[in-house]
Amino acid sequence: MVSEKKCDQCGAQATGLICGYCGALTGSLDDIKSEQQALDEYHKLIQASEGEKRANLLKTGFIPRYPKTLVEAGVRCMPLADVDDTTGPASIAAVQRLEALTTKLKILGQDEQSRTAIVEFKAKIRRFKSADRNLGIGVLVFVVGLIVGIVFWVRAC
Ligand SMILES: [Zn+2]
Repeated sequence: MVSEKKCDQCGAQATGLICGYCGALTGSLDDIKSEQQALDEYHKLIQASEGEKRANLLKTGFIPRYPKTLVEAGVRCMPLADVDDTTGPASIAAVQRLEALTTKLKILGQDEQSRTAIVEFKAKIRRFKSADRNLGIGVLVFVVGLIVGIVFWVRAC
């Protein structure tokens, strides 16, 4: 039987546990096992998409409830926040998702595994943001250099 359910978030036809269009949760999750299944489905969607679509999936993607799944969601999100591509929409969306996952884990996760994961996730977010800052400084130096070059060139004429 084909499900007639629609995604609450974007209104697209929902076929699985996760909306194929925006990554929001469309099925009902009763236990940690179904939540992990949803996470698998979600990451398959992400792998199959790129650019803006991937960014959208990351922005509106479902955030698990169980600390264990939150940790796994964060680990799987980490490589998507590419420090060599800090201006790409998908990378930015991935680091924002990682921040959201970290915040929720801070509230819900009281065990050792959660605490270790939070430290790792925060380190990754920091690396991403400092790479972004370095890129910004690089661009600034280039622009200033260019202006100085032009000034000298104009004076020499
Ligand atoms: Zn949707």
